[in-house]
Amino acid sequence: MTGPVFVIVELRNGAPVRSSLEALGAGRRLAGPPGTTPVIALLLGSAVESAAAHVAERGADQVLTIVDPRFDSFQAAVWSAAITALAQELGVIAVLLAGTAHGRQLVGRLAARWGAAAVTGIADISISNDGAMLAVRPVFSGRALQEVRVDAPRVVLGLRPNAFPPPEPSGSKAPVLAHATPELGKLPALGHVSGFETAQSASGPDLSEATVIVSGGRGLKGPENFRMLDELAASLGGAVGASRAVTDSGWKPAALQIGQTGRTVSPQLYIAIGISGAIQHLVGMISSRTIVAINSDPGAPIFKVADYGIVGDLFQIVPALTSEVRRVRGS
Ligand SMILES: Cc1cc2nc3c(=O)[nH]c(=O)nc-3n(C[C@H](O)[C@H](O)[C@H](O)COP(=O)(O)OP(=O)(O)OC[C@H]3O[C@@H](n4cnc5c(N)ncnc54)[C@H](O)[C@@H]3O)c2cc1C
Repeated sequence: MTGPVFVIVELRNGAPVRSSLEALGAGRRLAGPPGTTPVIALLLGSAVESAAAHVAERGADQVLTIVDPRFDSFQAAVWSAAITALAQELGVIAVLLAGTAHGRQLVGRLAARWGAAAVTGIADISISNDGAMLAVRPVFSGRALQEVRVDAPRVVLGLRPNAFPPPEPSGSKAPVLAHATPELGKLPALGHVSGFETAQSASGPDLSEATVIVSGGRGLKGPENFRMLDELAASLGGAVGASRAVTDSGWKPAALQIGQTGRTVSPQLYIAIGISGAIQHLVGMISSRTIVAINSDPGAPIFKVADYGIVGDLFQIVPALTSEVRRVRGS
């Protein structure tokens, strides 16, 4: 490859989000081993120091920071202007973005401003024998994989969450360099972002970062019964998710919906409870490491993708499972 690879690192409460660390892993895979094509991590905001030190030990060859409070709240126009200016200055050939809400907003805007190709929803990435970039992305609700060969000289790559392992600390520290804020040019009149509220599962970790997800469907019969799922999730240190039937009924907020029109998750353990397994749901959780399904209908499609299936009444199984988990864990 003929130029460096940029990885944009998003911060939450001053720390890099897991998906951005995954993007660093993807950047490293694309660039090859350290010492070949440089991977540059870019952090923007007024308090980026400790996050930069964290990132410096995880696969980047160089960490660039732009310390400027204008980047504290995410505004796609401002971020894309800054990233474009830097990418042009440094001769970057690829910008990698995490599959977060912000990353997804940036892909198109950045590609248009920078005059680059864009590929989104990437689950794997490699270099072909003749040196072209190859990106693999699930299509048709996950029923097929599409391989995209990138022949453009510049490309913006939007990654699928949980598709790439975040790099372990390497034992060496990449240099951290502060860069002046680039000329942002003429930007459209911007609104003022007064704050963010993170939509989370009732308790426990954020869905996109959870290693265990306990997900409920219409089989729960009503919002009050999700208390059972909260308890099971708490006993496993996991988060609660839901099918669209549940969020459409207003039993749980839309932010917890998993599937084609909801979140894409890939935990170590996904427990689908009272969920039939429609393709639109499966596409959001199919890459989970281990899938457990609890359903009273032995013909439910969810059992086709489950590693373990329990056929029975969830109202009996879930409390029994929770008390067994608590007993085994001594909690
Ligand atoms: C364009 C489009 C986008 C969509 N996007 C999404 C999406 O992002 N996410 C999503 O989830 N869906 C999505 N859907 C909807 C999807 O097609 C299904 O309708 C939905 O996933 C069904 O939700 P469910 O499995 O909870 O409900 P159901 O299909 O009604 O299944 C309920 C299940 O509970 C079981 N059950 C009932 N009682 C019990 C009991 N006592 N014990 C054990 N099991 C029991 C039943 O056997 C059944 O299998 C989308 C649809 C369209 C058209």
